[in-house]
Amino acid sequence: MLNKRMVGLGTQRSVIRELFEFGKIRVAEVGAENVFDFSIGNPSVPSPDSVTSTALDLLKNSDPVTLHGYTSAQGDLAARTKIADSLNRRFQAGVHADNLYITVGAAAALCCCLNAMTCSPEDEFIVFAPYFPEYKVFIEGASAKMVLIPADIEAFQIDFEKFEAAITKNTRGVLVNSPNNPSGSVYSEETVKKLAEILKRKSEEYGEPIYLISDEPYREIVFDGITVPYMPHYYDNTLICYSWSKSLSLPGERLGYVLVPDQVEDSKTVYAAIAGAGRSLGYVCAPSLFQQICAACAEETADISVYETNKNLLVKSLREMGYHVVEPGGTFYLFPRTLEADDVAFCERAKNHNLLIVPGAGFGCPGHTRISFCVPTERIERSLAAFEALAKEYR
Ligand code: PLP
Repeated sequence: MLNKRMVGLGTQRSVIRELFEFGKIRVAEVGAENVFDFSIGNPSVPSPDSVTSTALDLLKNSDPVTLHGYTSAQGDLAARTKIADSLNRRFQAGVHADNLYITVGAAAALCCCLNAMTCSPEDEFIVFAPYFPEYKVFIEGASAKMVLIPADIEAFQIDFEKFEAAITKNTRGVLVNSPNNPSGSVYSEETVKKLAEILKRKSEEYGEPIYLISDEPYREIVFDGITVPYMPHYYDNTLICYSWSKSLSLPGERLGYVLVPDQVEDSKTVYAAIAGAGRSLGYVCAPSLFQQICAACAEETADISVYETNKNLLVKSLREMGYHVVEPGGTFYLFPRTLEADDVAFCERAKNHNLLIVPGAGFGCPGHTRISFCVPTERIERSLAAFEALAKEYR
């Protein structure tokens, strides 16, 4: 006998993966230059040279037994110290090594938090649409419920009325992702202050902390000099889930962390619960070599300037064609409205133009489509005629 939910998760391919596979078939049929795959969020720029040089240096000059050996379950102390120092320099975070639990990417960081906080099947985590679809899988994997707040499609900030109405005695936490996949929106300081005010008030009302879980894999990928508010400065019970997948272009190396700052209520016990969740899920001792590399390169990024070039080109061109686009403040995603209400039908029609874009429904926001623009700029230039031909069908 097998767990039906796991069989289901293991056999259903995501819409994004389906598109990706379709793209490969079309490439064989019409040639790579005629297929415009905007489906997947795999960084398109190489990791910085410092990653390679640090890796080579470590491989040549470290004791291989130690380098490839187990670290502490929560990550190597020297690596955690370097990461904490970097957070203190950049955000005046006031954190130390013992606030950090190193994980295999943000995915594991999120799962550790969700499992640490879920006490009963009635427990709820609030998520704002549009959202990264794996959140539902992770929340349900922790045996909790996801409560979805509909999107504010004008600005992709937060609909506070709906948010406040959704908080109940069962609300264990609120998951935010700014800069956001798929909308690219960055929460303004005003949004974060209001969010914090509501969470404080509601935590007092129910006599239990409502945790803010801030998922930040795109923190550094922002445009036009926008700053991303550092959440723990606004709300004490904040846990940060971070990843180097996007900033250092290292998604396959699986490195991230959970940060549990001291100001979190009963922070040592919360940290212990995160470590316990890591232990029970088998998320201990993240890859040792990349703990050292990411710690050494924590203040660097890949050359992410191409994402801003791509964003500017796409926003301008699509608007000229009549698409409605909310300008993203960061990430490498654009989330325009589809030209018909049925976003799945729209994206099917786009396939006739060899445009591979993802329906918004899977992100909890129908009537939109996600365009992943972490691709060479030249692919965007070549794709514009296809976007225009698609728009023309609706005129
Ligand atoms: N959260 C969001 C919003 C993401 O977009 C992703 C990956 O695309 C993740 C988490 C998972 O990141 P990681 O590769 O670090 O596990």
